Amino acid sequence: MTTHTHRNVYMTDELQAIYDQTVDFVSKEVTPHADAWEEAGKVPRETLQKMGELGMLALRVPEEHGGLGMGMLASATFSEALGQSTYAGFDVTVLVHTDMAGPHLINSGTPDQLAEWLPGVMSGETILSIGVTEPDAGSDVAGIRTVAVRDGDGWRINGTKTFITNAVYGDMTIVAAKTDPDNPYGITMFLVPAGTEGFTVANKLDKHGWRCSDTAELVLDDVWAPDTSVLGTVHRGFYETMKNFQNERMVLVGMGVGAAQAAIDLTSEYVTHRPAFGGRLADLGAIRQRMAMSQAKVDAVRAAMYHAAWLGDQGVDNIREMSGVKAWGCEVVNEVMYDCLQFHGGIGYMRESAIERMARDARILPIGGGATEVMLEEVAKRLL
Ligand SMILES: Cc1cc2nc3c(=O)[nH]c(=O)nc-3n(C[C@H](O)[C@H](O)[C@H](O)COP(=O)(O)OP(=O)(O)OC[C@H]3O[C@@H](n4cnc5c(N)ncnc54)[C@H](O)[C@@H]3O)c2cc1C
Repeated sequence: MTTHTHRNVYMTDELQAIYDQTVDFVSKEVTPHADAWEEAGKVPRETLQKMGELGMLALRVPEEHGGLGMGMLASATFSEALGQSTYAGFDVTVLVHTDMAGPHLINSGTPDQLAEWLPGVMSGETILSIGVTEPDAGSDVAGIRTVAVRDGDGWRINGTKTFITNAVYGDMTIVAAKTDPDNPYGITMFLVPAGTEGFTVANKLDKHGWRCSDTAELVLDDVWAPDTSVLGTVHRGFYETMKNFQNERMVLVGMGVGAAQAAIDLTSEYVTHRPAFGGRLADLGAIRQRMAMSQAKVDAVRAAMYHAAWLGDQGVDNIREMSGVKAWGCEVVNEVMYDCLQFHGGIGYMRESAIERMARDARILPIGGGATEVMLEEVAKRLL
């Protein structure tokens, strides 16, 4: 008999502490305030800096640079806990910084780049974004048209990026550009700080959900990128970017699992108190059964995600498992949101109810960071 329980078989005391600290933080510092952030289309920088002070932006930063040097299981735990905020726009603001853009810098940065940028990344002074997608190239990364041409001891970058999270109010974008005209996969990544001459936000995009997350359309007009801003190996950016995809996929599932569990919990509360037909909604067989199925599916997605994270931390190729859980898990999150909104009845369709927002927020999960169909192709390639 254990005196305390952990959330899953992979969880250590350290991971449990991260989970608890993060849930505590979002319940006090995010959920009570975030309606105003949704209205403003912006997460306050002070909130991100508070997370920095608590060490929450440093989980994946190597110990020699002052971070905790943790792996995918830490990110799985962190993202699931963030999902409890019920404001996915906040969750993704943080996770793009820590787990979608951050890993490119951490994995490919030179000692000088790491020394220059990581202190600000950990404190929340330097918020990161990752700029790959373009108006004519999303799933097909090799189709990007942004080009960087050699110019003296650096490069000139020209192109357009779109749907770039954190790039309206953030501080540095990791930009993908074609550098080898003879090879569609000849892509290089560049560190481009906000305010660089020729690098502008053309539009702050207006979204269906994730309302407090800022999303930019960016223009690069003859942007000068010195050699010191090249991140990783010239022409190898496509392959180096792909290495970070499993982590990116995972945290999108993680925040979805956290949100789906929160939706189940608040819907359970609602149906157990809502009087109907001489009893409560929760007494109706159709509702009980579908709520139970939702819980079973979320439990299964959660277990599959932590398992794929654990495989990754063992150095095992987890592309099949992680792509599968991204595809299936994000669809499950949307099914759960659909049912939870349904069981709220009319109030679920009103802007005042949390489930209305959560259902909108979930819709992007099967599209962003690898659409369901693209994920299933990754699985099929390893199967058929
Ligand atoms: C809110 C938001 C935030 C984002 N943040 C970022 C960011 O920070 N940085 C960044 O670089 N990008 C970001 N993106 C871009 C996102 O990753 C892309 O939207 C996604 O990769 C899909 O690309 P696409 O929109 O060009 O759709 P397309 O590639 O045009 O695909 C459209 C649809 O076609 C289907 N499809 C595509 N390929 C295949 C295939 N091979 N087989 C079968 N079906 C297929 C899928 O259903 C897909 O949804 C963001 C997007 C949104 C909406």
